[in-house]
Formats: sequence, structure tokens, C-alpha cells
Amino acid sequence: MTKFLLDRMLGQTAKWLRLMGIDAEYASDGSDDDSLRKKAEREDRILVTRDKELSKTENGFLVPPVSTEEVLGKIISEFDIEIKPLTRCSKCNSLVRSVSKESVKDAVPDRVYSIQEDFWRCTGCGQIYWKGTHWEDILAKIERICKKTDESSR
Ligand SMILES: [Zn+2]
Repeated sequence: MTKFLLDRMLGQTAKWLRLMGIDAEYASDGSDDDSLRKKAEREDRILVTRDKELSKTENGFLVPPVSTEEVLGKIISEFDIEIKPLTRCSKCNSLVRSVSKESVKDAVPDRVYSIQEDFWRCTGCGQIYWKGTHWEDILAKIERICKKTDESSR
């Protein structure tokens, strides 16, 4: 599985890759070009960036200044990745694990608890996930991106 490191301008892209279940680290504030290159190399990640200079590294992947959706399309068509929604935390990139409904009773709003049956918890930051109303939108967007990529690679 290809892993990624996104530069500071690509926070939204990182979030969406995570929603697709793809391992995507995001450059923290204050990390300079050199430390990014080193991290990418050390952790065997593709360094995705809009910065020409920064992309000049073995693992560099330069993307044009286009929308997040288009950047995602480029990444999906270029690299061998498997999309597995709801496996990774969009906040911290850790894996999420399916947990029992009872275990989240005190941690989610009553309204959510009464209508949802399936919950996931991030193994890193503890964030709880469920397939709320926005989940359909997320899946639809992921499908749209993949479909576009399919069509353009034919
Ligand atoms: Zn998390």
C-alpha cells in the first residue's frame, strides 16, 4: 500500500485520503522542506506537494494548483491504492476500530445514540465515528472522484 505525506497546502487532500482509508500524514506547522523530505524518505511515503523545489526528491509528486477533488483524482490514477472508507481517522490518520454501541453511550449525543447502531473509535485520538447524514455525501464524493479517474484513464 502506498503511503503519503502531504505538504502544508494540502490539508484538505490529506483529510480526504484518510476518509478513503489511505495512510496520509500531513506536514505539521513549522516543519521545513528538509524535514519533510527526510520524513518521506524514512517512512517510505510519497511526498505530495505544489512546490516544485520540494518535489525534487526521490519520492516527490508534484501536483498543479487545482481543486482538492482533482488532486485526489491524480493521486488515485497515479498510485496503486485501495480505497477502504471508515478505516482511518480523518483527524489524526490512526486506524479506527469498530466498537460496541454500549461503549460509546456517554460519548455521543443522545439523538445519535438512539438512531445509530454501528460505531467506530479512533485508536489514536479516540474520536468516535458513525454513519451520520454526512456519510452519504462523503461516499458519493469518493465515488465521483473514482469514477472520473476511471473514465480519464480509459
Ligand atoms: Zn484519530
